[in-house]
Amino acid sequence: MTEDLLESRSPQDPDDLVGEYATTPPAAVVGLVESARTAQRTWWSWGAARRSAALAAASVDLGARSDDAVALVVREVGKPVAEARGEVARAVAILSYYAQEAFGAIGTQLPPSLTGLLYVERRPHGVAGLITPWNFPLAIPLWKAAPALVAGNGVVLKPSPDAVACATFLLEVVGPHLPDGLLALAIGEAAVGRAVVDTADVVSFTGSAGVGRGVAVASAGRGVPVQCEMGGQNAAIVLEDADATTTAAMVASAAMGFAGQKCTATRRVIVVGEHPEFVEALGESVRALAPADPGDPSTSVGPLVNERAYLAMCAATELAEASAATILAGGGAPDRGGWFVDPTLVDGLDPDHPLCTEETFGPLAVVQHAADLASAVRMANAVRFGLVTSVHGQDLDAVLRAVAGLDTGLIKVNAPTTGVDFYAPFGGEKDSSYGPREQGAAGPAFYSSTRTVTVALHRPG
Ligand code: NAD
Repeated sequence: MTEDLLESRSPQDPDDLVGEYATTPPAAVVGLVESARTAQRTWWSWGAARRSAALAAASVDLGARSDDAVALVVREVGKPVAEARGEVARAVAILSYYAQEAFGAIGTQLPPSLTGLLYVERRPHGVAGLITPWNFPLAIPLWKAAPALVAGNGVVLKPSPDAVACATFLLEVVGPHLPDGLLALAIGEAAVGRAVVDTADVVSFTGSAGVGRGVAVASAGRGVPVQCEMGGQNAAIVLEDADATTTAAMVASAAMGFAGQKCTATRRVIVVGEHPEFVEALGESVRALAPADPGDPSTSVGPLVNERAYLAMCAATELAEASAATILAGGGAPDRGGWFVDPTLVDGLDPDHPLCTEETFGPLAVVQHAADLASAVRMANAVRFGLVTSVHGQDLDAVLRAVAGLDTGLIKVNAPTTGVDFYAPFGGEKDSSYGPREQGAAGPAFYSSTRTVTVALHRPG
């Protein structure tokens, strides 16, 4: 990588150069924001029907280019092709969903205290600065950009350096449907992200907790609205009456699918009481998920995204071994090119061990043991994150008691921690999220400010 060129390489074959991209000088970000602000006035003047038609046409174009999009996601971030197909289908649906949201109510009317009108209306902030990670390289930029656009804003997107090809592809497909400059890319690393945070009228960030905290502080310091979606250390609570085989397969896939590189991946499996068949089945299910070519439709675990992620995962495995934990599965790396590691399952760590409390963004999960449901819920809550928890079991009373006690923003019952419905509000508690929720109807609400209008009606005589 030279000073002003950014290389994106394929994680399964680091010799494969996906693309080289000129970076945006941080000082040039203000120009992108100004151009988006000018284009925003045109966009707003188009009215709801034309804005809706633009997003609907972008959805159709993305659908028509699905095969290219899938191939690019597989190549650039190593996402297994079956999951990449799901992501592209979701990206198409996000655009068509928000195209319809263009016709949603933008305010409410209240009874005036005297005569006349009293109403509340939503208006765009101006230009949204979006900072995104690499792991959902189409869906995350779109689940921020589409509601920002439909609410009438311009957008400057700062994609992850590991997903610039996907972001460039998105701009190519969606951009022609919008006024020139309304949707722009700011390409680069942290300094470019900081420049976006320093100039946009509203900021939405998804990424790690440390970076997100800084983004929240900087945005609040400028007095602009901000939302940050960050990491997780998500638990699956397995009750004694959970079916061993089906639950093990579901939990293993939620922990290790896409090499554990999802904010919603299961990191901790909390087993309530004695359930040796489940622990054994879980080990077997994890061992069955051998890493393989992400381009093969039968693969569910591909490579880690880059060398840094690979080294972090190796360090985590060494830490587990040094802590005298039992490695139930994995612990090594296959002998093949690319940033592949074996999905690893660890038992016997203290609950306050860093591998239990901090996110390792890779295919590593720990098994923890709780004497009863109350201790399992306490254990699940005893981390600084609060994104998602799954609860597995048949006893409705126990399941509902667990749901009532958990302090995560999402709870799944007899379902994997992974998987998100783009039309429902999404977000976590504690260090997992900051600010209002995103997705669904929460999206356009975040990207607008409301004003209250009072119109007095003076009757003659
Ligand atoms: P990251 O925090 O390293 O980077 C995220 C984005 O922030 C990138 O575009 C990066 O270039 C930019 N950035 C880095 N430093 C910055 C700074 N100082 N100011 C402004 N921008 C800056 O995260 P990542 O490695 O790309 O993604 C993995 C993380 O994202 C994991 O922690 C994962 O849990 C989290 N994640 C969360 C969600 C969610 O919705 N909660 C979804 C996906 C990923």
